[in-house]
Amino acid sequence: MIPFNKPPCVGSEEHYVKQALKSNKLSGDGPFGQKCQSWFEANLPARKALLTPSCTAALEMAALLIDIQPGDEVIMPSYTFVSTANAFVLRGAKIVFVDIRPDTMNIDETLIEAEITERTRAIVPVHYAGVSCEMDTIMAIASRHKLYVIEDAAQGMMSYYNGQALGTIGHMGTFSFHETKNYTSGGEGGLIIINDERFAERAEIIREKGTNRSQFFRGMVDKYQWIDVGSSHLPSELQAAYLWGQLESAQKINEARLSAWMFYDNKLHPLVDEGCIELASIPPGCTHNAHMFYLKTADLEERTALLEHLKLRGILAVFHYVPLHTAKAGLDYGRFHRVDRFTTSESERLVRLPLWFGIDEKSQQKVIDAIFEFYQ
Ligand SMILES: *Cc1c(COP(=O)(O)O)cnc(C)c1O
Repeated sequence: MIPFNKPPCVGSEEHYVKQALKSNKLSGDGPFGQKCQSWFEANLPARKALLTPSCTAALEMAALLIDIQPGDEVIMPSYTFVSTANAFVLRGAKIVFVDIRPDTMNIDETLIEAEITERTRAIVPVHYAGVSCEMDTIMAIASRHKLYVIEDAAQGMMSYYNGQALGTIGHMGTFSFHETKNYTSGGEGGLIIINDERFAERAEIIREKGTNRSQFFRGMVDKYQWIDVGSSHLPSELQAAYLWGQLESAQKINEARLSAWMFYDNKLHPLVDEGCIELASIPPGCTHNAHMFYLKTADLEERTALLEHLKLRGILAVFHYVPLHTAKAGLDYGRFHRVDRFTTSESERLVRLPLWFGIDEKSQQKVIDAIFEFYQ
């Protein structure tokens, strides 16, 4: 059986987790937590990076930080994970879904401006498969209309847009360290990246249950107390210790994923030339992190047949998001203004192939052979 995913593990994680276990410090923001945060601040680089229990939690923090109020509107693609929308719906926002570009499956930046009303507060670009949205255009629109940009870079760690790390371009950005992503903090985890100085201090407060506990630990105040709304958005030191092992090997993980991605891309190209399938296109200026290798079939029927064909040969390939605007909650909390030209039709053709840190070429070749056999 070839699984779809295996959680990344380089080997050093166990050592660091054991070290954390022996340290008598298991709660958040211990030595490993701080090392991880400093790593991101130095390497992205970023103004401030705070570990969170998930990308979902990071997005919820972002919605609190920009002070979303009931009735506010937030623009995002419908082709995304539920958390992108939920974080803002929890604060009472109405979600405005914009169609995607078929080449990258990212929000179509040319359609955003027409959806802006006097209630619009934020744009949430989602960097699908770790390939950047057209951020220059999106940032220019946001600045013209005084909107916030929160990058959902859950899949985007180690990806770049014109040399700038994803997650560091908007006012804030978020990463996921769920086990299905390129880097994990032991199954679940996330990061909020604060690029706009105005949010730096309040981010710490919201993350620490609405208290100024972080300032207290830095000796800036003599006691800590409740000063704002907040929640508990710190992961444990064990999660940070696991992640630290992966950050030390961040380049190695990235290079291994990219070479596996390129192996699929090279070997499957003859099927593109024959007009059987389509593959992802990476726009100029985008450096991606091989988060995902996907192909597109002719239509839904062909996809169902291909997935079944692969499954019978012990290969777990999978489809992805059901567009949010077609789901029950999406209908309740959002609206898709224009025509759904690509969101549904392109999502129905997409197949993700097995890809993880450490996948061998023999397994990949088995997947490739099975796909060729299907199109014979
Ligand atoms: C994985 C993912 C999330 C959620 O991440 P969690 O860490 O599981 O909360 C959000 N948005 C996108 C685009 C994702 O891929």
